[in-house]
Amino acid sequence: MKSLISATLLFIMLFYSVGSSGKWFEDSQGIMGTNIHVELWSDSAQQGEQAIQAVMEEMQRINQAMSPYIESSELSKLNKYATQDFVTVSKELFDLIWLSVELAKETDGAFDITFASVGYLYNYRESQKPQQGQIIDLLKAINYRHIKFDPAEQRIFFAHPNVKIDLGGIAKGHAVDNAIALLKKSGIKHALVTAGGDTKLLGDRLGKPWMVGIRDPRDRTKQAVVLPLADTGLSTSGDYERYFEQDGKRYHHILSPKTGESAYEVQSVSIIGRSSTLNDALSTAVFVLGVQKGMDLLNRTPGYDGIIVDNQRKLHYSNALVE
Ligand code: ADP
Ligand code: MG
Repeated sequence: MKSLISATLLFIMLFYSVGSSGKWFEDSQGIMGTNIHVELWSDSAQQGEQAIQAVMEEMQRINQAMSPYIESSELSKLNKYATQDFVTVSKELFDLIWLSVELAKETDGAFDITFASVGYLYNYRESQKPQQGQIIDLLKAINYRHIKFDPAEQRIFFAHPNVKIDLGGIAKGHAVDNAIALLKKSGIKHALVTAGGDTKLLGDRLGKPWMVGIRDPRDRTKQAVVLPLADTGLSTSGDYERYFEQDGKRYHHILSPKTGESAYEVQSVSIIGRSSTLNDALSTAVFVLGVQKGMDLLNRTPGYDGIIVDNQRKLHYSNALVE
């Protein structure tokens, strides 16, 4: 009898300690020109807070290296000097630009980081856009083939005098991948990291899936779709993130490399897949490609699925999501 009581007590104590040992930690900060949000489950306040701090520091580090708005960033230096000579860059930047060029090939040039050769003339906050003549002059500089690599020396050269690159379509995905990798390494098992439109999930939400929404492109208070997800990533590109309206036209931040102007076939694209770096780039690429070519791309890319809201607000799902 006594041993039964102590066994019961032991059970209650064990149950109590398991039930109370962890807690959710969360924080949001404005970094990389967007909102960074982290949620994670941890057994200790110290570990939980340190892990969030580490994610925010990683976001700051990537911003300092890859922002085109920071003059001392590695990216800014590349844009300044690589039209004159090969420039040595970090392995991280070299690899991300290399991957970007591979994706340009895969997407028939829809994802092309040299879009910035014209793109840098848009300022969405100030409602500024390039003149038609400037677009015509600079359009030839938009071509990923101008980017030349010297892998042995980790150097990059732009073989056209007007080339500029911008990693805005892939760097946040990369940052989110890095953030989840470092959380995993520090022993965290359940986490969500979001940088603007790029979200990645580590594990589930303690036995339940994470519920991740895709917002209605024309109403920020409404969700178009909510998806139950775990251990994967979801990135959304939309024409509502950065834009201004002029003469009844919406000038937004996703540009067609063929025209140097905003792409108009769809309102948003969401991609689900394990790599946020790829989700980020693919969401931008499919946005430019439009419904038909975009879905063709997704349907031949294993492990990556997508949901498109077209310019008539109609939803389209890639094959694996409806099968
Ligand atoms: P965000 O999460 O900022 O909305 P997106 O994934 O929608 O980012 O990508 C939009 C960003 O991608 C733009 O702000 C710009 O920096 C970059 N971009 C725009 N057009 C292209 C393109 N055709 N190819 C590659 N990058 C692009
Ligand atoms: Mg993107």
